[in-house]
Amino acid sequence: MNLSSHHGNKRLNTVSHSHLFAGVDALTFSHLCEATLILTLLGQEKRQQEVKSELLGAGIERFEFYYGLTPADSEVQDVFNAGVVARYPPCFRCGNEDCGDLSCNNILLPVQVAVVLSFRALFAHCLERGFKVMAIGEDDIVFAPYARSVFSSHEYTTVLAASGLFSESPTLVRLGDSRRPQEFDLDHWHGEISTHGMVTMSNYLFLCNRSFAVLANQRLANIDHTADVLIHQSLCSHAHCLTLSPQIVCDRSWALRTSPSLIHPKPEYLEHLRLTAGEQSAEFAAEQERLRRHRKRASSFHHVFVGLVNCDFARVVAACRAIDLDVGCGVPAADGFAAWQYTTNTAIELIPCQALRDLSFVHVHSRYLVLAEPASAILDLAFRLEAGDQEAKEAARLAGSNSRTPPLIESDLAIERAVALYIGWHRLARDQSLKGIVGLDKIDLSLKAVIAGSPRPSLNIDAVALSDLTSKIDPKLALELHQELTILGFYAS
Ligand SMILES: [Zn+2]
Repeated sequence: MNLSSHHGNKRLNTVSHSHLFAGVDALTFSHLCEATLILTLLGQEKRQQEVKSELLGAGIERFEFYYGLTPADSEVQDVFNAGVVARYPPCFRCGNEDCGDLSCNNILLPVQVAVVLSFRALFAHCLERGFKVMAIGEDDIVFAPYARSVFSSHEYTTVLAASGLFSESPTLVRLGDSRRPQEFDLDHWHGEISTHGMVTMSNYLFLCNRSFAVLANQRLANIDHTADVLIHQSLCSHAHCLTLSPQIVCDRSWALRTSPSLIHPKPEYLEHLRLTAGEQSAEFAAEQERLRRHRKRASSFHHVFVGLVNCDFARVVAACRAIDLDVGCGVPAADGFAAWQYTTNTAIELIPCQALRDLSFVHVHSRYLVLAEPASAILDLAFRLEAGDQEAKEAARLAGSNSRTPPLIESDLAIERAVALYIGWHRLARDQSLKGIVGLDKIDLSLKAVIAGSPRPSLNIDAVALSDLTSKIDPKLALELHQELTILGFYAS
């Protein structure tokens, strides 16, 4: 399509040309954008092949893939640490502290934060490249059969020009709406094109101009919702946001459910795999497991107790219940420990260790540290580290990322690694604004004491076992251990 060929067009003449960028090459492209950027992830070749054939089918021959972030990228952890991600509570959707609704997405998951950061980087990339009008999409779009005809119609040019997309004022034009591709039908398009102002989520494909990209890039720095709501809803009062009618695109994972959602696994996709790959297939088993483990129930507790990997939480839970406490349970997690990525259940003492890595969240008002007798805790850790125990390895990984963990976490001697882990983990724990420290050996006594704010009973220590243990390790490490135990209260009289 060529702009000059439309100058004689009657409908285009109704649009003021001062709203058009002079000499925009964009208008020579099929869908009137200078660039089409498709957000994808490394390793998603199948999606990339599929989206490529969709784009070519719609007449969009020039496009680029832009590789986004995954939850494993350090940028994701950095924004959590920097405090720019909305934390639970309240639920970011309904605003309640404990919405109790399984379908309400109480917590912004690291994967959702990765999507926000990816879109933000993509907007910044477009600004750096100097694009004036761009199409931005995801790698799972499906076009309506008539998309190509819409793109090449005079009406499309007219409607986009009238939208403000080619002006300096911030403008967003969503190409997606709420219909699914089963509902796309050539008969549904009779040649009329218009726009409406109803908010719809169209991250899978939208057009925007440079001013909108500037706004979106700024807005996405404050991560208090998912990327689609931030882009398509929160900017409505600051920008001209429109939705194209007819709908010409939708996304595969939501609408067709023949691709897995990379955020929330969906039962419909499992059903698709059952029908196509069969229940015996590895894909089916993997998705079934993903679905089973993906619980995003969030709860709010008044008290939660955390301890090193060998803490006996069953005793903690029993003691809490005996004094009528609302209790959760914690393990070391990616956010330091116990802050947001650990699970809870009404039958918590029955939860196997592996369940503690599920995507289920609690918020707690007060955190307490549960301490086991140090000599036995350290010997247990050494044994677990030697045996390659997953939980102990995860605790070691977390402690290893703490700069105050003794370097002997890398020692050849398991006992030295265990002592360094013990010290590093407790330093990490103490940084988490604890409300109190509870001794596991006197849990029922000390629990009441710390919650009441009264002095806790002294913590038990096996001095003989401990001195036997420290005689086997580096003397500087032994000294650090004694210092840590003093801070934790083991030598308090
Ligand atoms: Zn909610």
